Amino acid sequence: MAAQKNRLKIRALVAGNWKMNGSKKDLSELRKLATAMKPTKSGGQVKAEVMICPPATLLPRMADVKAKGIALGGQDCHANINGAHTGDISAEMLKEAGAKAVIIGHSERRADHNESDKIVRAKVEAAHRAGLMAIMCIGESLKQRKAGETLKVVQGQLRGSLPDGCTAKNTVIAYEPVWAIGSGLTPSVEQVGEVHTALRKALMRRFGDEGAKTRILYGGSVKPANAEELMAVPHVNGALVGGASLKAQDFYGILKAYL
Ligand code: PEP
Repeated sequence: MAAQKNRLKIRALVAGNWKMNGSKKDLSELRKLATAMKPTKSGGQVKAEVMICPPATLLPRMADVKAKGIALGGQDCHANINGAHTGDISAEMLKEAGAKAVIIGHSERRADHNESDKIVRAKVEAAHRAGLMAIMCIGESLKQRKAGETLKVVQGQLRGSLPDGCTAKNTVIAYEPVWAIGSGLTPSVEQVGEVHTALRKALMRRFGDEGAKTRILYGGSVKPANAEELMAVPHVNGALVGGASLKAQDFYGILKAYL
């Protein structure tokens, strides 16, 4: 498969972001996904790391399902360990609930909750403190892309949202053009390649060898029909998937890029 070239160097991660979707009955999707991923003689085995990030209410339930080969993650965390923060969840609490990672700085949180780079950076630090892998999201708006500001914007977000001490183990970057999220639109492979190459260079400048190994996911309307092509772009080390991660059949269709 075309994605093989990328996966030889860095083990890819394909993470599903369920956002504010899913209830008890949808645990069956996790079971179905685990079944689909079982290696068969003819079908081979998914070589990427696979993760589902459900709403916090489902995290412990999903952990109880013990779906082989599927890690779990949270969708956000507070920067503090505990305290008077009604409605918030700490990274430590997510870890206790069964998470291995947490999405931080998703564009929906940056927009809906006014999360600045500074806030995102504090949350990434919290994830590291708790022993969680931070999946830190960045991406330009359509207006910024049209103004030719994409690289400046994402490099600025990367600089401002990552603390010192990031390693390939504790941090993953997700490049998600805001205009591609949930819209059915995707950038061209050339556009994706340009951004991922720039991000790789910036990571290497700041974190050296760790930056060279840090996974950079692409996110924004990834689906079975375009996964193979997008995952084959240089410096694309997996995907962050929204809508198409809700149904096991669709998500597995994306994972097939890593068979
Ligand atoms: C996302 O929200 O992280 C995302 C990539 O969504 P979608 O795949 O639905 O565009």
